[in-house]
Amino acid sequence: MKIRDLSEKFEVSEMTIHRDLKLLMEQGLVKKIFGGVQLQEVSNKIQQKQCTYCHKPISNEGKLTYQLILSANRIERTCCAHCGILRHKQLGEVVLQALCHDFMTNTTISATTAWFVMDTSLQMGCCEPQVLTFGNKDHAEKFVKGFEGTVLRFEEAAERVTEAMQASCCSKQK
Ligand SMILES: [Zn+2]
Ligand SMILES: [Zn+2]
Repeated sequence: MKIRDLSEKFEVSEMTIHRDLKLLMEQGLVKKIFGGVQLQEVSNKIQQKQCTYCHKPISNEGKLTYQLILSANRIERTCCAHCGILRHKQLGEVVLQALCHDFMTNTTISATTAWFVMDTSLQMGCCEPQVLTFGNKDHAEKFVKGFEGTVLRFEEAAERVTEAMQASCCSKQK
């Protein structure tokens, strides 16, 4: 878009446009290109459609999604807790907060204090080994009674997923 076009469209002086653009540029929202400006692609502002870890598309339902809140207002989304945990471990200290959804109520919960269910017979069809998240320990235990599996804390689940991923890597190489 040309500065002159903007000026005509909004009926303001080109100087005003330049001033406003400077502000937008400082915020990283637009980029100056030859004779005009272009809207900058700000990945954090747009809803991320792909898992950061495995690049699978993220379902709109978002029940399984795991969100990583990073420093400098960055947000990453993964398709499920499996990828979320792996990405979380990969990033380490940069992660300020991690959010996932309670499998029963679909409410947003903090991942680090959540209860994780693995080895259950209910398959959601995302990444293997599957990890389901619960905000309530009681719910997780009741779920396991019906669908089998193990209830784990964040660190335990992280260890299990990491181990399983390493094992599958090695078996592929053989
Ligand atoms: Zn993924
Ligand atoms: Zn997944």
